[in-house]
Order: sequence, then structure tokens, then C-alpha cells
Amino acid sequence: MSGEMMRGVYLPGDSTAVLRELPIPAPGAGQVLIEVGASGICGSDIGYIYHEHKGHRGVEGPAYRGVVAGHEPAGRIVAAGPGCRRFGIGDRVIVYHIAGCGLCDNCRRGYFISCGAAQRQAYGWQRDGGHANYLLAEESTCVALPDELSFVDGALIACGFGTAYEGLRRIAVSGDGDLLVVGLGPVGLAAGMIGKGMGARRVVGVEPSAQRREWAAGLGVFDATLEPGPDAESTAKLAADALRAPGAATTIDCSGSRAGRATAIAGAAEWGRVSLVGEGGTLETEVSDALLHKQLTLYASWVTSLTAMAELATNLARWGLRPESVVSDRFALAEADKAYALAAGASDGKVVLVPGEPGP
Ligand SMILES: [Zn+2]
Ligand SMILES: [Zn+2]
Repeated sequence: MSGEMMRGVYLPGDSTAVLRELPIPAPGAGQVLIEVGASGICGSDIGYIYHEHKGHRGVEGPAYRGVVAGHEPAGRIVAAGPGCRRFGIGDRVIVYHIAGCGLCDNCRRGYFISCGAAQRQAYGWQRDGGHANYLLAEESTCVALPDELSFVDGALIACGFGTAYEGLRRIAVSGDGDLLVVGLGPVGLAAGMIGKGMGARRVVGVEPSAQRREWAAGLGVFDATLEPGPDAESTAKLAADALRAPGAATTIDCSGSRAGRATAIAGAAEWGRVSLVGEGGTLETEVSDALLHKQLTLYASWVTSLTAMAELATNLARWGLRPESVVSDRFALAEADKAYALAAGASDGKVVLVPGEPGP
């Protein structure tokens, strides 16, 4: 198979996605070759490498190195290099999107995302990613994909669902309290679904876009999806009415906006726990009444660990929840340009590439 050609998607930085031919790579020691079943398009790709090539936290210089894009892949292993011990040919896997050094303290905790070593590489940013027929991956970045879940489910767990799960674990979502999700893009939808799985009493979402609210409401995981009021306090009041409680024990901001973070804080009940996972922008808050007098705890997290990702995949299968239900649009590789344009504009839910599809 190696030496034969395949197709991969590149992002030149001018808001286009182009398809090029490249050789199918051969796995070296500790590496596997994966036939890609699905590969998600992420909000982080759109901002940083689709419109222009900008830097990113944890990486020196321009983050995107002109490689095959896509950091949310799942597929089946079709070849394994020497020394692979945990995974082999035929295994269905999710690929954790960063290959860390494996030896620093963060890597040893399973947080390859926070690896500080020079050899840290993200798939789709510094090394070839999942928007191709095949992906060369480190065995250490593979996570087992349960049989009950599809490759599209796996692709979603690889980034957005993993990020949402980490945020919800930090605030210990449970049946002891309600969950307020602010921002119903793909990560917010994931947070709602996982929150339901973790047993949150009621799950309420807040989202300014009517189109996204409608899509979220159709998923059957939110008890209510609300349009925000003119300020955080009025939105918190609407959320409290929907929760039939003074506030939510746990809240998560997936919007990355100043207004969204203010809502996550205002919507929390006394002794509440607030999770921040949305990237970018600033956090601005009054302190005494908003934080101190309510005895709030704020958590910030970045992606998740390898072990939490594996646990999430198992949990979703046991909960009978399917991440792919948040996917609104699927495209073949040949339609990558269209797929990116849609993801960068106003898709209802998540956009994924399915390289197995022949396309038009
Ligand atoms: Zn992502
Ligand atoms: Zn490391």
C-alpha cells in the first residue's frame, strides 16, 4: 500500500481548501497507518489556519506548517510498524490530536495537549492530519473506539466531545444539580449531551442564533434552549425560570465570548461551579457580588487527557448516546472546499469529512 497515492486536504490560508495527491506513508516503529473513516472540521481550524496562518499557544511561529489538515480523525488500522504493543491491524481507533514527547510530566498525565517539548506535534497543524484517505499516527495517540460507536462518533470525541467532557468533569456534573450550557455550537451541543449522560438533573442551553437553538432543541438532550436577554443578569433569570431553581449548580461557557462567560457566571447558583472551555477573547467580571458572595469556583481547561478520552468513548457507548447526532453536514474529501466554507459560515451543527465516500 505504501508508495501508492492518496488524496489529502490542504489549507493555503486564503479561506479555501485544496485537494492534493501525496504518497500513502509507511508506518515506522511505534506508528500505525489508519484508513480514515471520518475527520471533523473544527472551529479552531477555521480561525487559525483557514482564513490566515496564525500562531497558536504552545507552538513557536506560524502554527500551521502546510501539512494535510484535520485534527479530529477516527478510522481503522490497516498497517502497524515494528514495536506496536497495544493496537494492531483491524482495530478501530480515535486519534488524540496531539503527539506529545511522552516523557514530560504533562504527557505522563496523559495531557499531550500541554506537552512543552520541542517535538510536540498536532495532527493537521504540524504533521499530516486526518483529512486524507490514510493517516500515519503514533500508536501512543490512539484511543480504542467501541464497536457501538461509528467513525463519525469517534471523530467528534477526538476534539469537541473530549473538550466538553473535560470541562464537565472538572465541575463534577451529577444528578445533584442542573447544568447550564452557554453557546450551542458543536462543543456546546457536546456538553449538553454528555451532561445528560453524566446525570445532570436538568440541562438548559443558551444561544443567540435562532438557527442553532432550533437545531439543538431537535437533539432531545436540552430541557430548554433559550435566547439570551439584553444582559447576563436577565439571561440568568430566564435560565433560572427554565431550571425552576435560583441558578444552576454547574455551568459551562462554550461560546468563548465575553457575554457568554458573563452568563455562565451569572447563571450559576450559590456555591456553583463554572467551567470555561471556549477559546479566545477576555473574561471581565464584577467580583464581590458575582463571585465572592456567591461562593463560586471557576475552572479552566484545555482539551482533555488520553485516559479521559478513552473513558468518554466507553461512557457514551454505555449511555447509548451518539455524538454523530450533532453532525448536520457530511462531505466527501473532494468536497472539502464546500465543507470548510459551510463550517466557517453558518452550519446548524458539526461538519465532518468522510473520506470513504466517493463524492460527486
Ligand atoms: Zn478540534
Ligand atoms: Zn511531553
